[in-house]
Amino acid sequence: MLRIGCHLSMSGGYLHMSEEAVSIGANTYQYFSRNPQGRGVRPFDAADADAMIKYNEENGIGAILTHAPYILNPSAATEELRQATLEIMREDVGRLEYFNEAMYNFHPGAHVKQGVEAGVQYIADLLNHLIDPGQKTIVLLETMAGKGTEIGRSFEEIRAIMDLVEPSKRDRLGVCMDTCHVSDGGYDIKNSLNDVISEFDRIIGIDRLHAVHLNDSKNEIGAHKDRHEKIGEGYLGLETFRAVINHPALSHLPFFLETPQDLEGYAKEIALLKSIYQG
Ligand code: FE
Ligand code: FE
Ligand code: ZN
Repeated sequence: MLRIGCHLSMSGGYLHMSEEAVSIGANTYQYFSRNPQGRGVRPFDAADADAMIKYNEENGIGAILTHAPYILNPSAATEELRQATLEIMREDVGRLEYFNEAMYNFHPGAHVKQGVEAGVQYIADLLNHLIDPGQKTIVLLETMAGKGTEIGRSFEEIRAIMDLVEPSKRDRLGVCMDTCHVSDGGYDIKNSLNDVISEFDRIIGIDRLHAVHLNDSKNEIGAHKDRHEKIGEGYLGLETFRAVINHPALSHLPFFLETPQDLEGYAKEIALLKSIYQG
């Protein structure tokens, strides 16, 4: 079974997102934990969360991915900014512990001219403070396009962060691979998906991969631009997505669309991907 969904808005609450997912043929989804460009968060509504959990069980929804606001920067240049990022992520993860199987995805950050090495250390420091080995939530580092001073543009940078996280906490840490980002980062998933997956396995370990963001790219390989395109309408093309969702190392993973679509457009993309899934 293809585990597929898209990015949804949290504005109507938990149950509403799950109902919306079902209405577009999805069996999972992603949402921002709070205003993606700010810090504000709606109060936690346990009754809504309980209703969503029950609805998900009845409707086969699972592997929901919560995305941290992208304004956060775990490798910011000041202690104050890094601390503010940690506090927000702590609050988000604390909230996710209410659920039995949560995944929390975040952008590793931008080193803002401090250099990759310093940035990598800050991100690992944050993870060491954030992760409790006993937590249920799995924290995911997203592979990035390498726009500006973004960290996580290569598998080596992701690995470097993971290596600095205490071994007892690594079990709660994983990776979310974004197809637009890895292509923009210079990995040729369009022509050599197998080689890219082998490289991911060699450098990071394929068992660390917990989720995939499915986005076409407005730009060519190595562009470092991070401009998402609708599935099949960008540089990557539909055949790339057929290969990705059917790849033996990936086909069991949850896939999340972050394409420039409205709900109706997402419903069409989900139907299209289901129609080419052979699993
Ligand atoms: Fe992201
Ligand atoms: Fe993404
Ligand atoms: Zn992106």
